[in-house]
Amino acid sequence: MINYLFQEQNWQTQLSDLITDPQELLETLELSQEQLLSGAILAVDQFRLRVPRAFVGKMQKGNPLDPLLLQVLPHHLELEEHAGFVTDPLGEEQANQQPGVLHKYKSRFLLTLTGACAIHCRYCFRRHFPYQENLPKNDDWPNIKQYIEEQPDINEVILSGGDPLTLSNRKLKVWIERLESLPQIKFLRIHSRVPIVIPNRVDEELVSILKNSRLRIILVVHSNHASELDDFTCSQLQQLVKCGITVLNQAVLLKGVNDSADVLVELSYRLFDAGIMPYYLHVLDKVKGAHHFDTPAKNIDLIYKKVLENLPGYLVPKLVREIAGEKNKTPLFGASTF
Ligand SMILES: *Cc1c(COP(=O)(O)O)cnc(C)c1O
Ligand code: SF4
Repeated sequence: MINYLFQEQNWQTQLSDLITDPQELLETLELSQEQLLSGAILAVDQFRLRVPRAFVGKMQKGNPLDPLLLQVLPHHLELEEHAGFVTDPLGEEQANQQPGVLHKYKSRFLLTLTGACAIHCRYCFRRHFPYQENLPKNDDWPNIKQYIEEQPDINEVILSGGDPLTLSNRKLKVWIERLESLPQIKFLRIHSRVPIVIPNRVDEELVSILKNSRLRIILVVHSNHASELDDFTCSQLQQLVKCGITVLNQAVLLKGVNDSADVLVELSYRLFDAGIMPYYLHVLDKVKGAHHFDTPAKNIDLIYKKVLENLPGYLVPKLVREIAGEKNKTPLFGASTF
């Protein structure tokens, strides 16, 4: 039980000790290059391998098709060019109003405070996004404040990224207090995969900051497979649920990882065990390098139909796609929709 070791380690240590060398990852999992489906793994400079040891601890040793491994291992198929798979599938570069602000939806906008993630997911639609040029500096707050105040429709701010929970509690607290100072802001959403990949991130101080905020807090975690949710991870998240924070999950439908109704049904039940509600099931964004995760529309229909049949309605995630320029995520069902 490898994960036992990590529970004793604070999250900062874990975040500074990620596995970034593919060879080390394979050795840890007792795998050889030859066992990998397509032989050689990819040497990557741009979107490097990055995975916390606690997450690797949830992978099955000796299994080259482990659904968690497939999400992080650089693959030479990423280099293939495919029509329609582009670097900025959502047109985010255009929606960037000012540093850190990505405002496409009416009542809410994304505030990106860091470009860093604890894990690099190979299918991520932001893998090519030029974050570093785009982050707000500490003294950008007056501009962001003014931007919000000029738009009374905004009642929610979504901390997104990168991953906002890679920031220190101190820095998070500064930004939360800033947002609390604006009466029009009622909801604070935090989109983060860190509690899944480094469950110790849910530390006492974080719980206290979120619990004591005037804002209604919604934490949206990102988990694609029930194996990501071991008992320790669930009990960490339950601490937040117990103090009234709404915890939701978004998943991405990924070929080879969770493109089966059984896997998705198990994920929903596992989330619910931990008090987390399934929220979105995203169809893959057509980002360059992620074609091998794409599931044909016909299969998506069959899978989702079976999910609907096998889960109570409250455990069915909404199947959605983000379409560039649309004012909301687009619900999908029926092959004719997409
Ligand atoms: C997904 C998303 C949101 C949040 O949308 P909800 O449907 O409220 O979860 C906000 N802004 C952008 C740009 C998004 O992609
Ligand atoms: S933004 Fe989310 S999906 Fe993308 S690499 Fe970071 S953690 Fe993974």
